[in-house]
Amino acid sequence: MPWFRKDHSPLQPSEQESRVPEGLWIKCTSCKEILYRKEVVQNLSVCPKCAFHFRISARERLEVLFDAAWEEFDQGLVSADPLAFRDTKPYAARLKEGRAKTNSWDALVSAVGELEGLRVVVAAMEYGFIGGSMGVVVGEKVTRAIERAEKERLPLVVVSCSGGARMMEGTLSLMQMAKISAALARLDEAGLPFVSLLTDPTTGGVTASFAMLGDLILAEPRALIGFAGPRVIAETIRQPLPEGFQRSEFLLEHGMLDMVVDRRELKKTLVRSLQLLMD
Ligand SMILES: [Zn+2]
Repeated sequence: MPWFRKDHSPLQPSEQESRVPEGLWIKCTSCKEILYRKEVVQNLSVCPKCAFHFRISARERLEVLFDAAWEEFDQGLVSADPLAFRDTKPYAARLKEGRAKTNSWDALVSAVGELEGLRVVVAAMEYGFIGGSMGVVVGEKVTRAIERAEKERLPLVVVSCSGGARMMEGTLSLMQMAKISAALARLDEAGLPFVSLLTDPTTGGVTASFAMLGDLILAEPRALIGFAGPRVIAETIRQPLPEGFQRSEFLLEHGMLDMVVDRRELKKTLVRSLQLLMD
C-alpha cells in the first residue's frame, strides 16, 4: 500500500461568473443589485446601477462595434494538436468543448466591416474558448488580420481577452508573440493605425506582445491587465499589493494605458481615434 496518495481531482476555478448569467432576473456581480436581464443586455452588458462591465463574447463584441453585418474571415483554421497534449483530459477534447460552447473553431474571431461608415478590420478574442488562450490558430489569425489591414489599407482594432499563451501547444504558442509583433511592425511602416482594446482579463503572452503594442491602448473599466496574476506576484515579492493593482484605472495612472473607456462610449471613441490616426 502506498504511503502517499495523489489527489487527481482538478482545482475548481475560483473566479466568479463574470458573464451575464442566464435567467429573467440576475444579480450584479459587483453591486449585488437584482436586475432585469434584458435591460442589462440592452445596456451592452453593463450594469445600469453601478456600470460593472460583464464579460461579453467575441461575436457580441463585434455586434457592439459594427454598424451592420460584417464579413468574418479565416473562420475554419483549426489547431493540429502538434504535441498530442494531455493534462487532466486530452487537448483534442478541450478543443471540441470550446467549439461546442462558443460556436468558433478557436479563441479569436476576425472580421472586416464598418464602424459609423469607416471600414475597419477587427479581431476579437473569445474567452469562452480555453480561456481565450493564444495558440497557433489565434496567432495566425491575428497575423492574417494585420496583413489584411495592410493589404487593403484599413485601420486595425484588436480586442484582447485572454489568459495568455496556450500551454497545450508549448513553444509554438510563444512563437506567435514574435510573429504578430513583426507583422505589427510592418503595419506601422505602412502608416496604418492599430488600436488595442484590453478587456477583462488581458494577461500573460497576450499582454507581453500585441496587446501592449497599440498606437493607442484603450481598456474597459476595472479590467484585470497584467503579465503574471496578482496572487503569483504577491507570493513572489512577499508584500501586500496596492489597492486596485493591475486594474485598468491603476495602469492608466501609471502611464501604461492611454484611456479607460466605458463600453457604451466605445464605438464613438474608437471611430474618433481612428479618424485622427488615419489623417
Ligand atoms: Zn452593478
